Amino acid sequence: KLYNEVQDLKGNIRVYCRIRPFLPGQNQTHTTIEFVGDDGELVVSNPLKQGKENRKLFKFNKVFGQATSQEEVFKDTQPLIRSVLDGYNVCIFAYGQTGSGKTYTMSGPGLSSKSDWGVNYRALHDLFHISQTRRSSIVYEVGVQMVEIYNEQVRDLLSSNGPQKRYPFPLSIVYCQTHYNNGSLYCFLDLHTLGIWNTTQPNGLAVPDASMHSVNSMADVLELMNTGLMNRATSATALNERSSRSHSVLSVHVRGTDLKTNTLLRGCLHLVDLAGSERVDRSEATGDRLKEAQHINKSLSALGDVIFALSQKSSHVPYRNSKLTQLLQSSLGGQAKTLMFVQLNPDVASYSETVSTLKFAERVS
Ligand code: ADP
Ligand code: MG
Repeated sequence: KLYNEVQDLKGNIRVYCRIRPFLPGQNQTHTTIEFVGDDGELVVSNPLKQGKENRKLFKFNKVFGQATSQEEVFKDTQPLIRSVLDGYNVCIFAYGQTGSGKTYTMSGPGLSSKSDWGVNYRALHDLFHISQTRRSSIVYEVGVQMVEIYNEQVRDLLSSNGPQKRYPFPLSIVYCQTHYNNGSLYCFLDLHTLGIWNTTQPNGLAVPDASMHSVNSMADVLELMNTGLMNRATSATALNERSSRSHSVLSVHVRGTDLKTNTLLRGCLHLVDLAGSERVDRSEATGDRLKEAQHINKSLSALGDVIFALSQKSSHVPYRNSKLTQLLQSSLGGQAKTLMFVQLNPDVASYSETVSTLKFAERVS
């Protein structure tokens, strides 16, 4: 395997922590970040409290301090992404409270400048580049889906049904079987099939009704992402920042045909911007807000349970407890590789959320 440079120790799960900088206008007098080590150590404390027991030490595969650029973050993510071209399934997601930099890490602050690009644009750019330049005997095709999971319902963010039908029916996650269309390189069901690292293991859970878009260049990708972000943003204004209360999942399906050996390989990369992990005050939340909070809680803890079970090499992995874990099933566990970005806001007002984010991460790392 050419691109399988990643040597994983613990069940193919790695955890990176990223601390976002203070924003202009934010009071920088008090930071909860006390120490960032080169080997993944992180010490946090509440500067408004005294005492040694106030300090908490955590250890990750890597910690990115506040000055880390998008490019540096990507450098440590790239090998994982390239293994998709070898037929691995990879899942990368960002976890943290709203405002901690999840979207910044995954997508970036905007599309204007390339240096701002987050992991997902860089990943696609890199996949195109590598597949077009370095592997002449393998022809790659790339298909992209983008869905949102909101209140345990899956919706297509790239639907081409026109603006009124941006959110048509909730989609099902179903078990798909590979369907080979002999001679035809581009086969709809075939591309929808997940859970594959070789052609002998072809079946898996997928969302066949979410639109699949064939992409060949960054221009294609940027246009699609714009649509996806716009579809998400539209609902955000309508439903009060819904985007922070839904998970968005960008799925990149890669299929390679080796012209020399006439074999197929397939890999899938899921890039997930999770809903904000902040606890909602039960006494204050009512109605829709309470329902949203309960769904988010449920799916984030289901995700935590799945990763925990995988890190313990447990024989039972509870994928079925949420739509999120069902959707990601084929890229969590087995030979799949998983990377979690744990996002932190250094502000003292976020201290208790920071600690609960770190505890979530500690459980799965
Ligand atoms: P989230 O998606 O977790 O709610 P965002 O990604 O929207 O958080 O980040 C919140 C704010 O902080 C945004 O204005 C974003 O541009 C800024 N931000 C986040 N991470 C960084 C970073 N690493 N460098 C500079 N600004 C950042
Ligand atoms: Mg966000």
